[in-house]
Amino acid sequence: MDDYKFLFKVVLIGEAGVGKTCLVRRFCQGVFPIGQAATIGVDFLIKNLEINGDKIKLQIWDTAGQERFRTITQSYYRSANAIIIVYDVSNQPSFDRLPEWLRELKQHINEKVVVILVGNKCDLTEGREIPYHIGESFAQRHNMKFIETSAKESANVEQIFQELSTTLLKQA
Ligand code: GDP
Ligand code: MG
Repeated sequence: MDDYKFLFKVVLIGEAGVGKTCLVRRFCQGVFPIGQAATIGVDFLIKNLEINGDKIKLQIWDTAGQERFRTITQSYYRSANAIIIVYDVSNQPSFDRLPEWLRELKQHINEKVVVILVGNKCDLTEGREIPYHIGESFAQRHNMKFIETSAKESANVEQIFQELSTTLLKQA
């Protein structure tokens, strides 16, 4: 049955290769794609959640490779309720690019949009380049929630969506 009280559009951004598609597949389909993560091939996936008795439908938009060409358009952000900015904790350049992502974001969204910063691949203890506290303080400075995840080991992935849905419900 397709009844829900709230519909939220959630958009993922961040450098290519940080694990955006894997996070969405893990959350919506409960899998970690083996080998080359396939492009989802649709514009968005749907996931239903229930928080404190409220039925929520999340429409989750994953860039289908456009980020490689830096051609993410206005239409992609249109009517977004929440944005997830992802970097890879084992990849310094993906973290260093965050200010540019934020600059681009500011051109497209209003201040009501919930933004959450995600440091993905926290399972990679050996190859880690960005310590937790560095990600956390960057997020604080820019007024974002922060969470580290592993799409691979299914760590904290649900929490991203719980967190942003809870925040959206408070302002709904
Ligand atoms: P996207 O370009 O941001 O959509 O990134 P993908 O989801 O396609 O993932 C890029 C690569 O990172 C793939 O080889 C994934 O297997 C790998 N990957 C994604 N998430 C994780 C994770 O949590 N841990 C590890 N170790 N690898 C990951
Ligand atoms: Mg992808």
